[in-house]
Amino acid sequence: MEAMGRVAAGELANAFCFIGAGGHHAGRNFFGGYCCFNDVVIALRQARRTGRLCRVAILDTDAHHADGTRDLVAADPEVLHVCVCDSDSASADGTKLDVGAPDPWSLDGPPDEAYLALVRQAFPARADRFRPDLIVWYFGFDTHRGDYGDLGLTLAAYLGIADVMLETAGRVCGGKLLVVLGGGSRTDLATRLIPPIIAKLARLADRQPTGIG
Ligand SMILES: [Zn+2]
Ligand SMILES: [Zn+2]
Repeated sequence: MEAMGRVAAGELANAFCFIGAGGHHAGRNFFGGYCCFNDVVIALRQARRTGRLCRVAILDTDAHHADGTRDLVAADPEVLHVCVCDSDSASADGTKLDVGAPDPWSLDGPPDEAYLALVRQAFPARADRFRPDLIVWYFGFDTHRGDYGDLGLTLAAYLGIADVMLETAGRVCGGKLLVVLGGGSRTDLATRLIPPIIAKLARLADRQPTGIG
């Protein structure tokens, strides 16, 4: 809540929220997958209460469908929710989308490139049209090769998504980007994957007057 509030207020350029438990499987009256409370939606409600923001665009690249987040924002036209999971669908107003992730075992090329191409196709143009006040990247590394949601991805994919999100946020909402940690179980992967993403956020923040989070 503090990170979203401070990024929304312009006190921080961006933030990486190192959350130890997931949030996106927690809905209105259900929870699962070790997600007890929906961190992103709780933070959004709080930030709206203080008048700091209204419209938010969320990209969810955890390996699993964000059933809790979708439940909580389904009737909210001021949330763009793009979830990369195992199915394809779109709401009538175009603000709630599921995009089927590429199956790594049916690809000719490297999964990183196919996944990144999908993200580039699914998110930036929609965010441009939606004009959010802030962007959230719900980042799960359970998609990494060998973790429990294995989609064959490696560091290159996550760095590529980080670039897409930074570019998109820079273009549409003054760089206001919150990266929220989702699924992923391996400490060795977390240790290798997370610092370079934070370094990217920090490099961009250094060029802005507001500092980093
Ligand atoms: Zn997951
Ligand atoms: Zn989904």
